[in-house]
Amino acid sequence: MSTEYAVSASNNFLKTIIDEDLKSGKQSSVVTRFPPEPNGYLHIGHAKSICINFGLATEFGGRCHLRFDDTNPAKEEQEYIDSIKESVRWLGFDWGEHLYYASDNFEQLYQWAVCLVTEGKAYVEDLNAEQIRAYRGTLTEPGVESPFRNRPVEENLNLFQRMRDGEFPDGSRVLRARIDMASPNISLRDPVLYRILHTPHPHVGNAWKIYPMYDFAHGQTDAIEGITHSICTLEFESHRPLYEWFLDNLPVPSRPRQYEFARLNLTYTVMSKRKLQELVLNGLVSGWDDPRLPTLEGLRRRGYTPTSIRNFCEQIGVGRSDSWIDVSVLEESVRADLNDSAPRAMAVLRPIKLVIENFPDGQAEELQAANHPQKPEMGSRTIHFSREIWIEADDFMEVPSKGFHRLTVSGEVKLRSGYIVTCRRVIKDELGNILELRCDYDPASREGIHTADGRKVKGVIHWVSAAHSITAEVRLFDRLFSDPNPDRSGADYKQFLNQNSVEVLTECKLEASLTCADSETRYQFERMGYFRQDPKDSKPGSLVFNRVVTLRDVWVKK
Ligand code: ATP
Ligand code: MG
Repeated sequence: MSTEYAVSASNNFLKTIIDEDLKSGKQSSVVTRFPPEPNGYLHIGHAKSICINFGLATEFGGRCHLRFDDTNPAKEEQEYIDSIKESVRWLGFDWGEHLYYASDNFEQLYQWAVCLVTEGKAYVEDLNAEQIRAYRGTLTEPGVESPFRNRPVEENLNLFQRMRDGEFPDGSRVLRARIDMASPNISLRDPVLYRILHTPHPHVGNAWKIYPMYDFAHGQTDAIEGITHSICTLEFESHRPLYEWFLDNLPVPSRPRQYEFARLNLTYTVMSKRKLQELVLNGLVSGWDDPRLPTLEGLRRRGYTPTSIRNFCEQIGVGRSDSWIDVSVLEESVRADLNDSAPRAMAVLRPIKLVIENFPDGQAEELQAANHPQKPEMGSRTIHFSREIWIEADDFMEVPSKGFHRLTVSGEVKLRSGYIVTCRRVIKDELGNILELRCDYDPASREGIHTADGRKVKGVIHWVSAAHSITAEVRLFDRLFSDPNPDRSGADYKQFLNQNSVEVLTECKLEASLTCADSETRYQFERMGYFRQDPKDSKPGSLVFNRVVTLRDVWVKK
C-alpha cells in the first residue's frame, strides 16, 4: 500500500454530486466545512469527517473551513478548541485563514430570529421543557399547539428582547419557530430556536444571556460562510427539512445544501464524547490522550501516523448505509505505513541472559545490522556482540513444544545480524528459576544461517549485547474493550472494559543505538512490533516506548 494520500483514489456519491454541480454550473466552486462542537476531543470518527470535507475541497480545487459550532457554552471550553485545532493540523489539513466560530454570528442570528418573530413565524413559549415534550406528540400522534402559540407579535418582540437582556431565569422561556405541530417530521413541530442560559461563553464571553439552538445556528452559519456542500452524518437527515425551512424563510446570503453520509462505527471501542469523557473523569483511562482511546490525541500519543489515519479513511470509503469497520482495519493501516518507513532495531522486552563461553570476557565485536531489510538506502548501524547478551525469555524452552524452532538445551539458533549459538547448559537458582543460559557461538556463522558443518538453522531470534544495552520501559496495549460492540443498547459499556488492556514492562533491554532515539521516529523492534517513544513520559536516560501495533494481527485466530 502506498503511504501517499491519494485524494482521488476512489469515487463516492459526494464526489459525483460535486462533479455534477460544477459541470452543470450550479456551483462555480466548492466550499465545505468541518464543524465540531468544542465540547470534547476529536476521535477517529471525526477524522473520517475531516478527511471527507478537506479531501473534497482539495480534490475539486475549493476550500474547507474549520468552524466551531459553539452554541452550548455549558459544555464548551477553550481547552477543547485548542486541542481540535491541533488535531486537524496534525492530520495534515490546513484551513488557511478560514477559521470561524458560529458564535461570531450571534448578533446576525438574533436579528434573523427577530425577523421570524416579526413575520409571525416565531413565538416566545412559557411552557417548561417537560410540557413542551408532552405537547410535541409522537411519531404516530400529532403534537398539540401551545397556548402561547398565538401571542401577538408585539408581545413576542418585547419578551424576546427581555430574554436577551437577561431579565428571566434559565429555563423559564424559550423562543420557538411557528411551523406545524402536526407535521409528520417531528423536527418541524415548532422547534426551539433560543434558550436562556446565564453562562459565559468561551469565545464571546459574557455578551449573551440567550443562546441559539444548534439547528438554528448551523445552516445559517453555513449560508453566511458561503458553504456549498454542507456534509454531515446520517442522523441529521430528518433535520434537513428544518435546515431548508430556515434558508427559505430568512434573507440568507447563500443557499447551501445538506448531504448526509454514514458515520464511522469501529469495533472494540466507544466514540461518543459523553462516554469518552466518562472514561476520563472516572479515571478508567489516564486522560483524553490515553493511547488506548480512539481519540486523535490518543492515537497520536500511541504512535499512529497521520498518513495511516488518512489512508484508513480513504480505504473505508463514504457511503449512506450504516456499517461497522473492524478495528483491525485501522491497525493494518498503520502497520502498512510503518512497515514501509520504520527503521528496524532490536529490543528484548522480557530478557534472560545468555553467556557465550567461547567468547572472551571484556571484549566486543562490531557487527552491521541493516536498518530496513528491503531498503538498502536506509543504511545500516553498528551493533555489538559480546560475551553476555540478552534474549527474549520465551525464545528459550527447556522442553521444546512441537514446532518450536528457537533455542533449547543442546539446540542452536541464529542471532539476527550475528552468529549461530548453541545452548550447552541452563543455570538455575535453588527454586528452579532459570538464571542464565550457557552457550557457544560458531565464529564461522556470521553471514548466514548455516553452521560450520553445513546444517541449516531454522530459528532466528533478536538479541542485544548486555554491556551495550540500555534499560527502558515499554508499554504494550491491548483493546480497551473485550467486546466488539461495548456500546450496544441495553448494556453498560463499562462492563466490557478489558482489565488487561495495558502491560508495562520496566526491565526491557534495548540496543545502544536507541539511546539517542528520535522522539518522533517509529521503530520496528524486530519480531515485537512497531514502537515509538511516549511523548509525555519518555526522557533522556529513562526512555519509555509505546507499542503502536503488533507485527501481525494477533486477534485473527481468537
Ligand atoms: P457526539 O459524540 O456527542 O454525538 P459528535 O461526535 O457528533 O458528538 P460534533 O462535534 O458535532 O460531535 O462532530 C463534528 C462533525 O464530525 C460532525 O459533522 C459530525 O457529523 C462528524 N462526526 C462525528 N462523529 C462521527 C463519526 N463517528 N463518523 C463520521 N463523522 C462523525
Ligand atoms: Mg454532533
